[in-house]
Amino acid sequence: MQRWTSQLSLILEIVYETEHFLSAERVHQILTQKNANIGIATVYRNLKKLVGQGLISEISWKDMKYYTRHPFSNAFFACEKCGNILRIDIPIADQTYLSNEIGMSVNKWNMRFEGICEECGRCT
Ligand SMILES: [Zn+2]
Repeated sequence: MQRWTSQLSLILEIVYETEHFLSAERVHQILTQKNANIGIATVYRNLKKLVGQGLISEISWKDMKYYTRHPFSNAFFACEKCGNILRIDIPIADQTYLSNEIGMSVNKWNMRFEGICEECGRCT
């Protein structure tokens, strides 16, 4: 059993409190706002640990990693204009369904959509 540090639970709390994806830098920013003195290297290490424990989910986009609370929701929309990453819930994203449908055992999947987000769409 891994030692459950207060730093780790604080980081998990931040990821779980947020609806969409967070970068390690953003998590670090929020920690600083909460007056938690945790270095960026520790944030990276703890996020990795949480991914390893299956508590949070990690995706990569443009050489950056982003984190979200839903371990089985790996569909996301990346805005080409502002760079926001938004989580998308789509019914097809069900591992049992996928496994039955294609007759293979699906353990992991991810789906990426790119385009212009609602907010950026309004501004143009
Ligand atoms: Zn946008």
